[in-house]
Amino acid sequence: MRLSKTLIPTLKEAPAEAEIPSHILMVRGGYLRKVAAGVYSFLPIGWRVIQKISRIIREEMNRAGAQEVFLPAVIPGELWQESGRWDQYGEQLLRFKDRKGADFVIGPTHEEVIVDLVRGDVRSYRQLPLNLYQIQSKFRDELRARAGLMRGREFIMKDAYSFHATDEDARREYQNMYDTYTRIFGRCGLAFRAVEADTGAIGGSLSHEFQVLTETGEDALLACDACTYAANVEEAKARPPVSAPPSSAAFEKVATPGKKTIEEVTAFLGLKPENLVKTLIYLADGKPIAALVRGDRNLNEIKLKRALQARELVLAADKAVEDATGAPVGFAGPVGLRIPIYCDLEICALSSFVCGANAADAHYKNVVAKRDFAPTECGDFRDAAVGDACPRCEKGHFAGYRGVEVGQVFFLGTKYSAPMKCNFLDGDGKEKPMIMGCYGIGVTRIAAAAIEQNHDKDGIVWPVAIAPFEVALVSLQVGDAQVSEVAERLYAELEKAGIEVLYDERDERPGVKFKDADLIGLPYRIAVGKKGVAEGVVELKARRSPEVLKVKIEDVVRVVSEKVVAERAGGGR
Ligand SMILES: [Zn+2]
Repeated sequence: MRLSKTLIPTLKEAPAEAEIPSHILMVRGGYLRKVAAGVYSFLPIGWRVIQKISRIIREEMNRAGAQEVFLPAVIPGELWQESGRWDQYGEQLLRFKDRKGADFVIGPTHEEVIVDLVRGDVRSYRQLPLNLYQIQSKFRDELRARAGLMRGREFIMKDAYSFHATDEDARREYQNMYDTYTRIFGRCGLAFRAVEADTGAIGGSLSHEFQVLTETGEDALLACDACTYAANVEEAKARPPVSAPPSSAAFEKVATPGKKTIEEVTAFLGLKPENLVKTLIYLADGKPIAALVRGDRNLNEIKLKRALQARELVLAADKAVEDATGAPVGFAGPVGLRIPIYCDLEICALSSFVCGANAADAHYKNVVAKRDFAPTECGDFRDAAVGDACPRCEKGHFAGYRGVEVGQVFFLGTKYSAPMKCNFLDGDGKEKPMIMGCYGIGVTRIAAAAIEQNHDKDGIVWPVAIAPFEVALVSLQVGDAQVSEVAERLYAELEKAGIEVLYDERDERPGVKFKDADLIGLPYRIAVGKKGVAEGVVELKARRSPEVLKVKIEDVVRVVSEKVVAERAGGGR
């Protein structure tokens, strides 16, 4: 493509609202323009990136045995009423009425439509399993759209839904999709981790998020440095501690006048935070309970809530704490407490510890769990932390990352098929709900995440596999007949070799052309200049490296083709 014949309106400045690199660089590089908050138009090179990502996804989904369909963006409200999500989804669901007054939504996701399709046409176990996917625009009416493609309101998603006769077969397909996603993100040239995700209210189910590792990511992750275990900080399992032999000293009261916080008590008694135990009073569905973690740990409310099987878990207000402990806030402890006590595993492993004495200005020391009080349950109730030993393998430790979620695989079970009566007749003649899985990829988000992971101060550094073009060909002196002849010849030869080339033949200064080439971020750049042509060479530079190579004019197409072809297949890293 000749640069003068396409629309790549690069900008010196990004709009003030753009804060993260992917948003800034896609606008400045002429990839993207805003239409409304969280709603964008893709310009030619932006759409080429999306098409390349989509092609990789299609190839891998088809290879995995899934089949592409295309479902409507406009969905009748009655399907959402039937699944129960009409009431649950809230303000994110964009609803409207047609001219006859019927309710409709713009699909934020398509479980209802696909279940309606399959229940109408699939009756027998002989027609299963089935995995149907589409690549399509979704709309979610986020309150605060921001960060460009990272959190837009309209975005392109690949969503797949699988249907099975048995649990076992649905789990096989889950693994098939997990492996397929690993290939897709690898081929896109992304550094990523598959992370165990919160399975929410659907008990017994299974989910992984695929997270692209970037400094600007919204999600905090912990990943083992020795094995593949990785999880969101809220979900990461803590390795059970090694128990110390319990202290034989009896517990005793010590005066701690006015000392309430971890810092105050540890400083006053000369302790380390790990020897002081925090006793937090919560209301679980309205009833008080105590939760104990070491002074240097954070209580994990998600884990505690799950153990309690509570619908609601909130920290108790001061009055409720005083009612439960008989002491002012800051002096709670487990000894003598008459409410259920949930201890993190580390508490039960301590030789002894210091805690509040349920009396003003007093703490106990030499307290031993199970000797001086009876825990209702000991479990994993704390946040795992960087440096913790891995719970999965013997030798690894947690390192901390930030990530951008680009995909999720989900074992759904019968969450949608049961209420929507998506049933089949099994081999024994019995009618049963189909077992489902669903599998999403944020197509437009991949483009943004790739830039977050691959950029420098001058612009984007695309992996070859998803770059809008593979090579930038820059003519440095357009008016010079010899330079133009060589550049035109290389352009024709590169195209003939099947290389996607963006040919900058604009009548601009070399500095302007180099700046635009770096900003747009194509993986390789060939510069044709007067001095080089006189010597029979052109300059070849990889966007990722500062090194500039002088290559003979007659060799450069072969040299760059070899590099591009190798990186196309290998994901480009
Ligand atoms: Zn490990």
